This record gives sequence, C-alpha cells and structure tokens, in this order.
Amino acid sequence: MAELLSGKSAAAAIRADVAARIARLGFAPRLALLRVGDDPDDLAYIRSIKRQCAAVGAETAHFALPLGCTTGELLRTVETVNRRADLHGCLLLRPLPKGIDEHAVCDALLPEKDIDGMSSRSLGALFVGDRNAFAPCTAQACVELLDYYRLPLSGLHAVILGRSLVVGRPLGQLLLQRDATVTLCHSKSQSLPALCRSADLLISAVGQIGLVDETYMRAGQIVLDVGTTTCGGQLMGDVNAADAEALVRARSPVPGGVGAVTTAVLLRNLVTAAERSVE
Ligand code: NAP
Repeated sequence: MAELLSGKSAAAAIRADVAARIARLGFAPRLALLRVGDDPDDLAYIRSIKRQCAAVGAETAHFALPLGCTTGELLRTVETVNRRADLHGCLLLRPLPKGIDEHAVCDALLPEKDIDGMSSRSLGALFVGDRNAFAPCTAQACVELLDYYRLPLSGLHAVILGRSLVVGRPLGQLLLQRDATVTLCHSKSQSLPALCRSADLLISAVGQIGLVDETYMRAGQIVLDVGTTTCGGQLMGDVNAADAEALVRARSPVPGGVGAVTTAVLLRNLVTAAERSVE
C-alpha cells in the first residue's frame, strides 16, 4: 500500500506559520484577486482563497472584469494593483479568455507583487537561481509536499509530464535546484510509459484523467498528481489512484494533494511580499 502524501496537513503547517508571521507584522497583508468573466470554477476558487485568507488574518480585494474586456482594460487594472501600496500581492486567474494578450498582462505586474511567479521577470529570476524570486505556487507546492514528508530529492530521477510555464517548466527548475535529475515530457514525447517507469519521482501535470496507469508506474516510486479535471462535478487527477495505490511507494491524492498546498504557498508568498514592503 502506498503512503498517502496528504496536502491537507502540509498546508495546515504552512498556514500556521503564515498566521504567526501576520500577527508579528502588525497589519493585514492584502491580496488582489483579478479575474475576467464568471467561470464557476474561478468563482469557487476565489471563495476558497477568500476563506483561507480570512482564516490567517489576510484580506482580499477583488477585481472582476467582464468577459468581453480588452487587454488594455486589464493592463489598466494591473497598473492600479501596482500603484496601490495597500495591495501586497496579486493572483490573476488564468487562462485568460482568447484575444487577451496574457503575456503582456502577466509582465505588467511588478515583480514584488507577482506572488504566483507568472511574469517573464519572475520566471527568469527562477531560472537563473535567484532564491528570492517567487516561483509559481503549484510548482512550489510540489516541492513543499515532498519536503513535508521528508522525502529527499538529491540524486533522484524526476520525470515530469507537462511543460507549461505554470507547472512543468518551473517545477523542473525547482527540482534541479534540489539536485534532482530532471526529464521534462510533453505531448510529443516518445515511449512515455517506459520513461515514466524509469523515474524515482513521477509528477503528472497534464489534465487527462487516468493517463498515468499501471503501465507508467513501478514499485518504489513517489508519484505526485497535479492534474485536476472536473468530471461529473468531481475533481479527478491524471493518475489512476487504484493502480498507484497497489504499485508505488508514496502518492498524492486528488483532491487533497498538491492543490491543497498551492493556496497555502500563495498565502505564504503574500506575507513574504508584505514583509518585504516594510523592510
Ligand atoms: P497546460 O498548460 O494545458 O499544459 C499541459 C501539458 O501537458 C502540456 O505541456 C502538454 O504538452 C502536456 N501533455 C498533453 N497531453 C500529454 C500526454 N498525453 N502526455 C504527456 N504530456 C502531455 O496545463 P497546466 O496549466 O500546466 O495544467 C496541467 C494540469 O494541472 C491541469 O489538470 C490543471 O488543472 C492542473 N493544475 C493544478 C493546479 C493545482 O494547484 N493543483 C494548478 C495548476 C494546474 P504540449 O506542451 O506538447 O502541449
């Protein structure tokens, strides 16, 4: 039976640290939540973030633009976030609707408020090894989860499925910084099952329910499931949970795995940004 790498306890430990840091700070850090349209998943995520912010003593400011808004309108909202000293960090809900220049919007945010590491500057800083840079929260959450369960990373062969700028690529850099040997895979990679079986640490961030089945896994592996796809109102991962349960050494569940840690990492980055704003 695989050890269950629950994100809930890892997230609770991070949130307790965040609450203590906010109490020391003497003021409530404020998170700007920036969204376009009324996607139900976005709205549910925002409600959850607001609840979690309130629980640790942080505040939120919500900026909602209509679905038909322009890149220019979104850029002006980002400029407002940049200007307001009472906003310490910003989360932009992505993907943005087609027709909006997502790169331009991400790059307009000041790096000190870019607590989800989405701009070219933040990603560049991560790639040159600047440890002060904010990494994308989901990529960071994977490393946090492994650290929480005291799983050493040095020398491991890590295979990552997915090469997006949100998860796969930054995660590859974070794992390299921790001396793992990284193989980054994508939709055109060949012989994926064999590649995946060669991993000590297998991380799937694709968004295809059950892609990672028994043919991708072997005994002794650590498997993290980043994928989240809603199906019939249920959140499903990329990894076939029953196959992983029977085969591998440790696995993260969906829900309650990496996703649970992601928001806690966002809160921690927010308090770090607030601390830096008064240093
Ligand atoms: P994305 O931008 O769509 O990227 C998906 C990646 O998977 C791409 O690199 C794609 O390759 C690759 N891919 C597609 N089919 C593949 C296959 N059969 N084999 C191997 N690789 C394949 O998605 P994303 O934003 O990175 O998100 C990935 C998943 O993570 C989604 O389910 C998303 O909901 C979830 N997610 C979870 C969290 C969280 O906090 N838990 C946060 C963010 C995302 P190409 O580059 O060749 O197209």
